[in-house]
Amino acid sequence: MTTTNMNLVPIEKWGVTGESPLIISGPCSAETADQVMETARALVKHAPQVKVFRAGIWKPRTRPNSFEGIGIEGLSWLQQVKAETGLLTSVEVANANHVYEALKHGIDILWVGARTTVNPFSVQEIANALRGVDVPVMIKNPINPDLQLWLGAIERIHLAGITRLGAIHRGFSSGQNGRFRNAPQWKLAIELKRLLPDLPMVCDPSHICGRRDTLLEISQKALDLAMDGLMLESHPNPDEAWSDKNQQLTPVALAELLGQLKLRKPEGEDSETVDFLSLYRDEIDLVDLEILDTIARRAKVVEKIAKYKKEHKMTILQVSRWDELLKDRLAIAKKLGLDDKFSKELYQQIHLMSIRIQTRVMNEKEENVGK
Ligand code: PEP
Ligand code: MN
Repeated sequence: MTTTNMNLVPIEKWGVTGESPLIISGPCSAETADQVMETARALVKHAPQVKVFRAGIWKPRTRPNSFEGIGIEGLSWLQQVKAETGLLTSVEVANANHVYEALKHGIDILWVGARTTVNPFSVQEIANALRGVDVPVMIKNPINPDLQLWLGAIERIHLAGITRLGAIHRGFSSGQNGRFRNAPQWKLAIELKRLLPDLPMVCDPSHICGRRDTLLEISQKALDLAMDGLMLESHPNPDEAWSDKNQQLTPVALAELLGQLKLRKPEGEDSETVDFLSLYRDEIDLVDLEILDTIARRAKVVEKIAKYKKEHKMTILQVSRWDELLKDRLAIAKKLGLDDKFSKELYQQIHLMSIRIQTRVMNEKEENVGK
């Protein structure tokens, strides 16, 4: 099996809801029967866009002696949620026993957590437990930014016969205290979409942000990147939550956030927009061609410089020249309205390419020089 011949069911046909985007919400952890029911009732009342209820039953905590989940008892609370409110239910499964118990309690959607996706043994154990079962399964990205691990987990679950399969983008641990708890690294989610265009993808802004005030921005960005849904944690009293208290929203605050989201039309809905888009895309194609052509021309000049430096026994790197060049290019880029961070990264890449070319030239045998 390759990524191109996977048999995948679009999220609208999961039998969960015909609506898009799919909104999943509920507490990080099921804590008590009352907390679970109160959350579910408030979601139904204030945020009718929520169609699937989530709650962690087994919690993979980084340090011991934190709340590690209520366990099997909580599954019956979820059954009660479904019976009383009609919301579908979803939980994280991390081993075969979790799968058996969740299925026994009629849980509608399972997801594999970020700490499990990193471990092919665990993913395979879950895949084996799922063999012959038809249930929707969503795979969170691994904690570390490794697309192959994410893809591998998706393939393992698919090989077990799961076709209602999806991915959840929850950001990547960077080990740094940045703006996000888990850096979104959108390019990895986009690359997974490119490799598996038919795989539904839901974004989990709660675990990306780790705090409440950036949830709207990330949720909107996810929708603008054509994600199929959002998973957002909610709790009746977030500050008292037993896990992830900084990132959970009350159901009322969640409703406000959902109300502010702009749902843009999927591409291709009317032919006029498609015509306009195709004109712009033709223009982009031409600009890209110019960019590549220009970079290739720069590489040729670098090659000439490298040969000259070699003949005159000069080092590849002249730090002062690189420093001047970078400052100059960043100033120009700024005047052109380009983002500083982007311009710096771009120039670092261009410079690395230049060093690679020069290293190759320096290492070429003498007789090749000048040819
Ligand atoms: C969760 O969804 O509560 C959770 C533990 O998420 P993740 O696996 O993304 O850390
Ligand atoms: Mn959580």
